[in-house]
Amino acid sequence: MPAERVTSERVEKSAPERSKNYYVFSEGKFEETEINSAFFGSHPILWSARLSTGVFGLTSCPSGNSPRAPKNAGEVVLGVGDEGLTALVKLGFIPCPVCNPESSPHFSWSAIGGVVSTKYEVISAAEFADKTRVPFDARRLNWELIVSTVHGAPSRIYLPEGLDYKEVESFRSSIRQIVRADGVAKEPVLGYYDRKVDGHFTEYVLQNGEAAKLQADPKFVAEARATLLPNTAQKKIYFAHAQPVYGTEEERINLVAIGQRFENYFIVNPAAVKDYHIRDMDFYLGVVDECDDIVFTRFHGVVMGGVGKEIEEAIKKGIPAHELSETGIAEVKKVPEYLSREETVAMLIKVGFRKA
Ligand SMILES: [Zn+2]
Repeated sequence: MPAERVTSERVEKSAPERSKNYYVFSEGKFEETEINSAFFGSHPILWSARLSTGVFGLTSCPSGNSPRAPKNAGEVVLGVGDEGLTALVKLGFIPCPVCNPESSPHFSWSAIGGVVSTKYEVISAAEFADKTRVPFDARRLNWELIVSTVHGAPSRIYLPEGLDYKEVESFRSSIRQIVRADGVAKEPVLGYYDRKVDGHFTEYVLQNGEAAKLQADPKFVAEARATLLPNTAQKKIYFAHAQPVYGTEEERINLVAIGQRFENYFIVNPAAVKDYHIRDMDFYLGVVDECDDIVFTRFHGVVMGGVGKEIEEAIKKGIPAHELSETGIAEVKKVPEYLSREETVAMLIKVGFRKA
C-alpha cells in the first residue's frame, strides 16, 4: 500500500496555492514552469506524478495536496493532456490508488494503451490500475531521464517491501550514480511503506550478515580493493578510525596530519568504500595486511572494535602501528584496549550514528 492512503481525508483546492516551479511535459518536452492559477486555467488537464512513490494522478489528489506531501521540482513532475500523460506513463508512473486517475473523464486509454500494454502486458485501464497486476515499485521509473530533467531527486523512494539486500543495494548503487552524475547533493533514502511506524516509512538498512554476503559478491570486493589499494609504487598507510568520523572535518584534519608525518605515503582510507557497505572485518584486515604502516585515532576517548582489530592485525604481522592524538603521532607497540562488538554498537547508537 502506498503512503498516499493515510492522508486522503485532507482535500485542498486543485491549483497549488503558492506559485512554484515544476517540470511540466507539454509540446514534446519537459519545461520548467511556474504552476500558478493562470497556467492551471489555461491547461486544465494536468497530470501530476510523484517521484518517491512512482504514481501519477490528478493535481487535486488529496494525497498530493496533503500538508505532508512533498512539493518541489525534485518530488513531482507534471504532464499536460494526453501527450503529458503518455510521457509520464513512458517514464514508468502508474495510477495513484487514492485519486484513481484512470476513472477521470479526461483519462484516455486510447492515448496510453499502446505504451501500457507493451510495458506491462495489460490490456485495460482497470488492469493498469490493479496493483496486483502492476505493483508499486518506484525502481521502474526512468530515473536517469527524470533526474537529468528535474536536476533533483526525491528525499525518499518507496520500494516494495521484502526486497533482499542485493536488490536494494543494486538499486542504491544505480540511483547513487545517477544523482551524482547530475550533481544532486542528497541521495534519496530507500525504504518501503510501513503503516506500523511513525511517518509510515521504514528505511532499508543492511542487517547483520547481509554485508558479509554482499562482500562475497566478487564485483563489490574487487572494486573496493582497487579503490583502497591502487596500483602505486608509494608506501601505504592504513588509517583506522571510527565510522561516524568518515567524511567529516575531523577526518579531513587527521588526513592532513597523517600526510605531513608520512610524506609520500598513499593513505588507505576505509571511508573511501563505505558505499559498498562492506562491514565484514576480514576484508579490511586483508587490506591492512597490504599496508606498510597503520595509524589510528580514538573516538570519544576509546578504540572502537573494528579499529582495535585492525591494529591487532597490523601488530601481529609486524606492521608498525601509530596513534594519532592531540599530542601528535606516536608509535604503539602493544594493542590498546578496545571495545567489544557489542560495546561498539552501543557507542554508535549513543552518538546517534546507528538506530537502536
Ligand atoms: Zn492521487
